[in-house]
Amino acid sequence: MTLYYDTLKQYFGYDSFRPLQLEIISAFMSGQDTLVVMATSGGKSLCYQLPALLLGGMTIVISPLISLMKDQVDALTLNGVSATMINSSLEPDELARRMKGVESGLYNLVYMAPERIASAGVLEWLKRCKVSALAIDEAHCISQWGHDFRPDYRNLRLLRTQFPAIPVIALTGSATPRVQRDIAMQLDLRQPQVFISTLYRENLRISVLSKRKEIDMIVDLIHRRPHESVIIYCFSRKDTEKLAATLRLYGVAAAHYHGGMESSKRASVQERFIRDDVLVIAATVAFGMGIDKSNVRLVIHRTFPQTMEGYYQEIGRAGRDGLLSDCIMLYSAGDKIKLDYFVRGIPDENERQKTSAMIHEVMDYAESRVCRWRALLTYFGETTEFSTCGTCDVCAQSTTQSDATEISQKILSTILRTGEHFGKAYIIKVLRGSRDKAIIERGHETLSVWGIGREYAEAELDETFMQLFARGYIGKRDSEYPTFTVTASGRQLLKEKGVVLLPQICIVPGMDTSVAKKVSSGLLSKKIIPDENVNQDCFEMLRTLRKEIADEQGVPAFIVFSDAVLRQMASVLPTTDEAFLALSGVGAKKLEQYGTRFREKILEYSH
Ligand code: ADP
Ligand code: ZN
Repeated sequence: MTLYYDTLKQYFGYDSFRPLQLEIISAFMSGQDTLVVMATSGGKSLCYQLPALLLGGMTIVISPLISLMKDQVDALTLNGVSATMINSSLEPDELARRMKGVESGLYNLVYMAPERIASAGVLEWLKRCKVSALAIDEAHCISQWGHDFRPDYRNLRLLRTQFPAIPVIALTGSATPRVQRDIAMQLDLRQPQVFISTLYRENLRISVLSKRKEIDMIVDLIHRRPHESVIIYCFSRKDTEKLAATLRLYGVAAAHYHGGMESSKRASVQERFIRDDVLVIAATVAFGMGIDKSNVRLVIHRTFPQTMEGYYQEIGRAGRDGLLSDCIMLYSAGDKIKLDYFVRGIPDENERQKTSAMIHEVMDYAESRVCRWRALLTYFGETTEFSTCGTCDVCAQSTTQSDATEISQKILSTILRTGEHFGKAYIIKVLRGSRDKAIIERGHETLSVWGIGREYAEAELDETFMQLFARGYIGKRDSEYPTFTVTASGRQLLKEKGVVLLPQICIVPGMDTSVAKKVSSGLLSKKIIPDENVNQDCFEMLRTLRKEIADEQGVPAFIVFSDAVLRQMASVLPTTDEAFLALSGVGAKKLEQYGTRFREKILEYSH
């Protein structure tokens, strides 16, 4: 066990394992096939990189994205681990040279794309190498039930057949039970130990904000995070171009990215982002696959994402280094109408219904007032241990609860009395005593419930309605225009006159929710400004030095040292080797390479 910890410190600079890492490594080291399902940034790579060092020989790592391979190999090399990659981006001479190197046992880790395996002579070549383990990254790609099936992954079975004795570790960020079974079957895993970690990421703070003065909001959010990387997801390609241009007018150096751009242009934007040469990207969801940048601090959705799966993936690009990062979704009633219009334009009936259902899931999520994390995890079928996470906008405001029994009863009664046939807006109109044509036509102004909610602001009725929905008192019938019903527990509540406690709703004139208020007054985002211990000026000096070094070596800055390491430096101000090594993320090799330059910078700051 101490061997594991020593290796962890020496090569990776860490003092402790993340949840499940130690268990996974122990299982894999004992020669067992292993399947790992762990959320992005949970620390999957270490689960095969550390064994690779201990096992000796070479571990083959299969990875689908060439762009990521290079960063991984660079990062390992900077840590003093011998690694290389064999893929189509290499010139034939270079490829031959590396293959020779692999054969003579120069490398502990060899990254390969799945299509390589089927290339002529590759299996024979591997037979001449000392293969001690096989790691399959993004293992869900092997399953057609997964969200990213890649036929090339089916070649991997050949590896198992050719090397029946070596242990296999398959890793993925998310896989339903069906996909897990499929991975095990396709790879012919033998009684694999399966490790599944939660999708919850406590360093991601999620908020959903009602959109007002959108550009001002976005600019404000960016300005609160100077020198930090930001991704803004937009609805259309055109939107990305327009937004980037507008932001530039506001003095924010932003670039845009979408699938319709020339591939060289796309690659260059991506590269500049990874290298910290441009910090703010307005993009379609095409941006992000194949980016492993660890220090994205803010992900903004300018409008509803189209699916919950997509939303989780996209916010997952924030805070991979474990530091507090923000994920903010903006939405408005206008966006809803726009999206509904978009959905109605889908010609295929089946496709239309599917898309509509998925988008409405997202809308419900945005409008609900239950803990965002809880809602997300529940969506993915994970049972949560907590009811409040403390890192979402809903939890942040729900500390004070108030008695909402009366308003809840009124809303539920109105849904019942109007026959459970109507949408939310209509119910609220009846409650408020509206004389709308639609109401008069149906004679609903004669109902006993008509006007019983006059004393409440529309926003308050709206919010309470959604809270009751989120808590299961109100049910929904999905159709093009969703209508609402009172569920069994709603009826019981009415019958037994139970007390309803809901998070206190604070209504500000012109604002929909109290979150909007919090953001405009800066309450939410101020917490992001680092803890008092970090000397911000020092952090900036170190960040500049890091960028200098990264550019000299032609690698992304976060590979030199992560933001988390720089922050520790800027708070502890280490000047001795021991003090540097005591930081989490500083190993022997990094100290040897960079210690002197960072020490000088810290001394310069202190004097
Ligand atoms: P995944 O592949 O699961 O998305 P990575 O392997 O890229 O995650 O790890 C995410 C980040 O966490 C990396 O920056 C990595 O260096 C860091 N990390 C991994 N294990 C540890 C650990 N035990 N302690 C601290 N940081 C870790
Ligand atoms: Zn929460």
